[in-house]
Amino acid sequence: MTATELRPAGKGGEALTTEPRPVREAGLHPDRTAPAFGPDADPVGIIRWALAAHPDLTMPSAFNLNGVVLLDLAAQAGYTGDVLFVDTGYHFPETLATRDRLAERYPQMRFVTLNAGATPDDGQTPETLYASDPDACCAVRKVAPLQNHLKATAPSALLNARSREQTTDRADIPFVEDGGSRRKINPLAYWTRERLEAYAEAHDLPVNPLYHDGFLSVGCWPCTRAVKPGEDSRAGRWAGKGKTECGLWAGDNRL
Ligand code: SF4
Repeated sequence: MTATELRPAGKGGEALTTEPRPVREAGLHPDRTAPAFGPDADPVGIIRWALAAHPDLTMPSAFNLNGVVLLDLAAQAGYTGDVLFVDTGYHFPETLATRDRLAERYPQMRFVTLNAGATPDDGQTPETLYASDPDACCAVRKVAPLQNHLKATAPSALLNARSREQTTDRADIPFVEDGGSRRKINPLAYWTRERLEAYAEAHDLPVNPLYHDGFLSVGCWPCTRAVKPGEDSRAGRWAGKGKTECGLWAGDNRL
């Protein structure tokens, strides 16, 4: 399945919509015990602080524009830890190729694919569960593999690429988020899409080629469409399904 075959409508036949989608409780609480980084704080400096405070820091990534920029900044800060990617079985081939290009570019990091080898007919879920119950599909195919890995490895902090501008859900995201059992470090919290694009271009980063076709946030092919002018960068995710997050960063089972 290629991105071209999927355009312009979503694979599940759902109606594309530009209607505002509901804002969900994201549980974004700043960690008051962390240094008070100002909005203009250097993200490399924040990552260096995080590495000193949390030597077991680990980084989940879907290799979107934010994630690719964060990888490069993390490399500058000296990060040599794991980069965790969850194979749901429904990724675009372009996303898997981007992962492989990044793994070549940053050999000092260990790229780990969880749920590797997943396919739509592997029995983990009914093949089209994404259409009838996308929350359940994400819970099994995306959240559970990462949660299981984190339970086994128990890192004290996660490095994450979310930014405030992506959606209204993320408008208050802090640099250092009190995640309960583990901190979440969000060095790109204040970065705009324009700044991310400029950085990626200046550093010749291997951005997912789908980005340039309007897929500003790329998830699984049944649940992603290109973004229309004026929409936020994640409007193409689960469009028309009343869902804005996969469950990794919001909801009861968030990381
Ligand atoms: S994004 Fe869609 S296909 Fe991927 S795990 Fe979630 S519901 Fe399933």
